[in-house]
Amino acid sequence: MNDYQLYIDSEFCESSDGGRFDTVNPATGEVWASAPAATEADVDRAVRAARRALVEGEWPTLTATQRGRLLSRLADLVTDAAHHLGEVETTDSGKLAAETRAQSAYVADYYRYYAGLADKIQGDTLHVFTTREPVGVVAAIVPWNAEMFLTATKIGPALAAGNTVVIKASEEAPAPLLEFARVVDQVGFPPGVVNLVTGFGEPCGRALTSHPMVDKVAFTGGVDTARHVVANTAHNLAPVTLELGGKSPILVFDDADFDGAVNGAVAGNFGASGQSCVAGSRVLVQSGVHDRFVDEVVRRAEAIRIGDPLADDTQMGPLATQAQLDRIEAVVAESIDQGATLHTGGCRPEGLDAGWYYRPTVLGCADQDVRSTRVELFGPVMSVLRFDTEDEAVAIANDTEFGLGAGIFTRDVSRVHRVAGAIRSGIVWVNTYRAISPIAPFGGFGNSGSGREAGVDAIHEFTTTKTVWINTSTEPMSNPFTIR
Ligand code: NAD
Repeated sequence: MNDYQLYIDSEFCESSDGGRFDTVNPATGEVWASAPAATEADVDRAVRAARRALVEGEWPTLTATQRGRLLSRLADLVTDAAHHLGEVETTDSGKLAAETRAQSAYVADYYRYYAGLADKIQGDTLHVFTTREPVGVVAAIVPWNAEMFLTATKIGPALAAGNTVVIKASEEAPAPLLEFARVVDQVGFPPGVVNLVTGFGEPCGRALTSHPMVDKVAFTGGVDTARHVVANTAHNLAPVTLELGGKSPILVFDDADFDGAVNGAVAGNFGASGQSCVAGSRVLVQSGVHDRFVDEVVRRAEAIRIGDPLADDTQMGPLATQAQLDRIEAVVAESIDQGATLHTGGCRPEGLDAGWYYRPTVLGCADQDVRSTRVELFGPVMSVLRFDTEDEAVAIANDTEFGLGAGIFTRDVSRVHRVAGAIRSGIVWVNTYRAISPIAPFGGFGNSGSGREAGVDAIHEFTTTKTVWINTSTEPMSNPFTIR
């Protein structure tokens, strides 16, 4: 049993009242670690440490190049620890080890990218000059499904720009970030620059996002939680970046490379057990290839090896929580009641009774009155819709409250431009799906959020403009009451 501690002001510590919570391995349903339940007092201590580090001591005196060096060191240490961090994330979240190990390794690339950007953040020269200043103390709130990655996309640019941070891990899978705190501790950041708290939305998340010394909130999570977060920031008026959910469409046209399109749909729905914000969970297929496409995705879904996420030959692990499983079962049942055709799946796999496993599921949906086409399921459930014309496909794609990702599979380059322009989403993938890179901004339209993570855009989210006026005349400033 691993008993983790909070990381505040470069010290590992218990919560102020000694409260803890257990965390469960989704592959077995058994408790394997415990984490402190941070209180309001703990959050206050972490934010004050971050505030002190922002204005006093070594951090504000470092050159941008020196900050970049620290981020580079963090990248190297994350690379060294990638295997271990990946296994911890798998044990805590159920995500496939092949994916978490690879993700821990490329998370280092995000830190490297921002290490390089740190000394390239610049203002402008007009009649005045401007500088880009760190916005201040950043609260970084992450969900359970990709904690290492979603932390990197926040604290990478935040630290490069000279901010200090308090990270709040998810209560559903806090262990990867608690291990990450041990890595951070070896980097040599001045005390208080990076802090980590674990706990629940109430009181920990609420106390952090409404704290008067927090200057910026970078939040990834669900839409309903985002509403609370935005309400919390009415207290400190901190600007908020929101990376929320999605119901992203994948459009498959008759002329598409068939195998490529099937791979895109399989990756977009069954990769990470579908627990991905960019899951392409509405697959829109043109009539000419529709039936063949459905047959093939069903064949592929049924061939997926489900099981222990730590095993090398497993292709799909469990869902992260019992609540996730219950909700997915309920929405699939409701969708079938509403007329959806269950092509495959729709139940737990045989012989895997202990963890929270669910079979890859393909639903045929006549229209978007079916619930599975409307709500984010965060599970391995693909809803397939048929279309005839490009205009129809675009209309279905845009008929959603979300706007995070979209996939277009076609060989027609003019159509690529038309459809990519017409779809309201923050990311469009053409003849590929779920690709990410440190250089590529990431974020959504509508209820998928606001603001952008990654790329140079993220630096703008964590800096604010300072305008400097200098009197260059040989005369002293004139009397304001003498109008000339
Ligand atoms: P969630 O919204 O339940 O929780 C996210 C975080 O918010 C957790 O750390 C939680 O403790 C915290 N929280 C809860 N109540 C709070 C409050 N009142 N104040 C402040 N913080 C509070 O999300 P989840 O179920 O853990 O994650 C799944 C969601 O995350 C999905 O909707 C998914 O689409 C989204 N997501 C989005 C992206 C993206 O980049 N767009 C990436 C991954 C996940």
